[in-house]
Amino acid sequence: MRPGGVEPPAFWSVARRSVQLSYGRKETLRGDVSRPVESERSRIRGPAQTIQPRKSVRASVGAMRRAALKSPADPVDHPPITRRARARSGKTDRIQEKRVARSPAENPARPEETAAGGKTAGAARPRKVSIQAVDAASSGPSTVEALFKMVVEQSRSLLSTYDLEGTFLYANRAFTRSLGYRVDEILGRKIFSLIHPDDLAATQAAFASVLAGETVRDFEMRVLDREGQPVHLLGSGSAIRDESGKPVAVCAMATDVTEVRRLEEEIRAQRSYLQDILDHSDFFFASFDLDGQISTWNRTCEEMTGVDRIEARGRSFFDLLVRSDAREDLRERVNGLLEGLKARECEAPIPAERGEERYVSWNFFLRRSPHDRVNGFVAMGRETTESREAARETMRARETLENILQSLSSGLLVVNAAGETTYWNRRMEDLTGIPWTDVINRRTDETFPWLFRGGFTQAREGVLSGRIAAHESPPLGLETPGGRVSVIVRAIPYRSADGAIAGTIVRIEDVTESLRLRADLAHSERRYKNLVQSAKDCIHVLDPSGRFLELNASGLAFCELRDPSLIIGKRYDEVVDPESQAVVLAALEKARSGASAEFEYSFTSPSGRRILCSSVLTPVLDARGRLQSLLGISRDITDRKRLEEELREKNGRLVHAFERLERLAALKDEFLSNVSHELRTPLTSIRSYTEILLNYPDEDQSVQREFLGIINEECQRLTNLLNDVLDLSKIEAGEMAWHVAPHAVGDFIHPAVEVSRALALGAGVAIETTIADGLPAVTVDEDRFQQVVLNILSNAIKHSPKGGTVRVGAERTVAGPGGSDAILIQIADEGSGIAPEDVPHLFDKYFQTKAATRRRGGTGLGLAISREIVEAFGGRIWAESEPGRGSVFRFTIPRETASPHAG
Ligand code: ADP
Repeated sequence: MRPGGVEPPAFWSVARRSVQLSYGRKETLRGDVSRPVESERSRIRGPAQTIQPRKSVRASVGAMRRAALKSPADPVDHPPITRRARARSGKTDRIQEKRVARSPAENPARPEETAAGGKTAGAARPRKVSIQAVDAASSGPSTVEALFKMVVEQSRSLLSTYDLEGTFLYANRAFTRSLGYRVDEILGRKIFSLIHPDDLAATQAAFASVLAGETVRDFEMRVLDREGQPVHLLGSGSAIRDESGKPVAVCAMATDVTEVRRLEEEIRAQRSYLQDILDHSDFFFASFDLDGQISTWNRTCEEMTGVDRIEARGRSFFDLLVRSDAREDLRERVNGLLEGLKARECEAPIPAERGEERYVSWNFFLRRSPHDRVNGFVAMGRETTESREAARETMRARETLENILQSLSSGLLVVNAAGETTYWNRRMEDLTGIPWTDVINRRTDETFPWLFRGGFTQAREGVLSGRIAAHESPPLGLETPGGRVSVIVRAIPYRSADGAIAGTIVRIEDVTESLRLRADLAHSERRYKNLVQSAKDCIHVLDPSGRFLELNASGLAFCELRDPSLIIGKRYDEVVDPESQAVVLAALEKARSGASAEFEYSFTSPSGRRILCSSVLTPVLDARGRLQSLLGISRDITDRKRLEEELREKNGRLVHAFERLERLAALKDEFLSNVSHELRTPLTSIRSYTEILLNYPDEDQSVQREFLGIINEECQRLTNLLNDVLDLSKIEAGEMAWHVAPHAVGDFIHPAVEVSRALALGAGVAIETTIADGLPAVTVDEDRFQQVVLNILSNAIKHSPKGGTVRVGAERTVAGPGGSDAILIQIADEGSGIAPEDVPHLFDKYFQTKAATRRRGGTGLGLAISREIVEAFGGRIWAESEPGRGSVFRFTIPRETASPHAG
């Protein structure tokens, strides 16, 4: 009894029933039994190699016949085949043969095979025991049963039976071969112990379903082979029941689909690899059926449309990737492929957002089914938007170039290597009167022979051969419809794409106007140069850094230079006097900034003459407004400056004289009023006393004498006054008669002091006279110097307070710049002093201080006369005073006196 408690049915009855059951479902039999691994492989390769089920059955019958002649045990005794070996070759039969040929030593793990190889089957081999047991249990093998046994054993399907617990009851040769077990190794084992853990639960469930009465079909599971490698089995199972319908065993029929799955996996991997490649290329790739429905496409298509490959499936290739206006056209072209047209490239716009134009160039190929039937198309595309844009750009550039060439002011023609005109612009038409249609692609020397006169033939050959880089003719005369013009012919080579010289580009430039302008320019330049050279001013041109570039002839003379090289190249600020450098640098800076600079400077000529200049520096700009040079014009203003200086000085003197005259006029007015007063006062008193004497002749003698004395005094006063006026007039008019003789200073100091004594006595003033010893004699007019001392001394007494002292002194001194000997005479008083503003005017004619009162009389002439006298003898007179502390009047008399002169 088996552990499951159910006695297994005889093998053959089980097998027969199994086959009957299978034949009862013809389709299943075809699918499961007659489509072995090889058939699967054939399917993959293509329909031509598919093994027909009928043929398979016929083969099986033949095999059964052959097997009937053999020992029943023999076919079962097949060696195991490893999974790895199968994977290596894929040819099961050959490996089986190899296994058989192995020596026992090669396969020590299987000692029982030694006995099998020697065909001496031992009773101890469990596989044999099992089969024999099955045989014994049956009522004896009939011919049918033998046939079934053969069919089952020879079947390529994996056939097995199990008890209700899943314990192997039987496994055919295909089964054991696929899993690499020997029969005896699996009989008695449970199928579940061989199931891949991941498939175990499903397998157990399927087994339970079978026991529950279901027939499980197309169930796939992985069974672990002898080496523990999974073998994919696809099959069906059903229960075997006894007469009462109770399940007694489970029969399973399977196909080893490991290879199929491996190949499928490989195909899947290859597909994903291909998809990766397609996804990583910039190409558009799409596959679609004959109706245009997409089956797949790549990343580029996804990115372009925003539709991923899953969403795209079933949608129209044309709708998603072709702009509506081009859709029909492209569809027609694609369908054209079906009519035998070769795959070809065609460009189509793609639906673009925001009006952006994008183009793809497509290549379409027919897609075929495994039966070689056309079932769709494969589209490969690359975006051409940029290249189209580039082409358009090129076109635009060409048009622009053409416009430029046509509008050139020069004539332009292109002559190819064969000597034919290939281009002739509008200006050429104007110049020659020949329309381009008459010259294009015709020989240039025939249509435009003028060009080939002169040296052009050689020049062209030189340019074509590369000997001459460019040719330029001198001005040539050309008769044009508009008259004769001067032209210059220029020729340069043009090259083809490979760099070889392919012809010449000839430019014919009308230079009539420019020749005329050049002549005019040369003429005006000559005129300008003459002008500059003949200008009296120094005209010079400096570079922007301030260095001399040019200097006209006057400039050279101006600088007292003969050789221009002595100044050309030198910096402006270097050639001027040091004190003028700053002003020159400032002027350069100003001119460089674009403004004219006017300035004055001085420089010293080679002869040592200091020359004062007035200069203007002006920037000279080029056509683009950039500073080109500095133009300077300098003028010698030395003489002008000197005259200006003299004039200024004279003017100053005039102003001074004028002021003095004005003051004199004012003083004169005052003097006149004083003099008139001074005249009137004594005259009035003289007249009054005279009238009394006349009217009263009997008056007392003493009174008469007194009156006469007063009259005499007043007459004396009048005389003094008139003498003063006359003296001054004489001295100023140079008419004074000087009585010059050598005198000691005491000769005129002492008499003056004596004369003043009475006045001093009356005023209560003491006089001290100190004359230094050994003073040299001076050559003077004694009376006049006595007058000077008397004038100063009487003023001092008049301004001295009562009880004051007037000190008169004489001493030796040094006078004048030469330091010559002189006598200094000074008279100091202790009076009220003189206001500082009056001191400078004390010696002016008619000047009287405000403090001098009329009471004291005076005319303002005393000190003026004194100065005239002192200066007439080369001396100097001045006063020093401090208000409230008295005054000192000093004058010098040089020892070597000059001849007296008029003041
Ligand atoms: P005058 O005959 O009017 O005195 P002077 O020429 O002698 O004229 O003097 C000019 C002025 O200077 C007078 O107004 C006089 O009063 C003043 N002066 C001259 N000497 C003295 C002095 N020692 N102290 C003050 N004032 C003086």
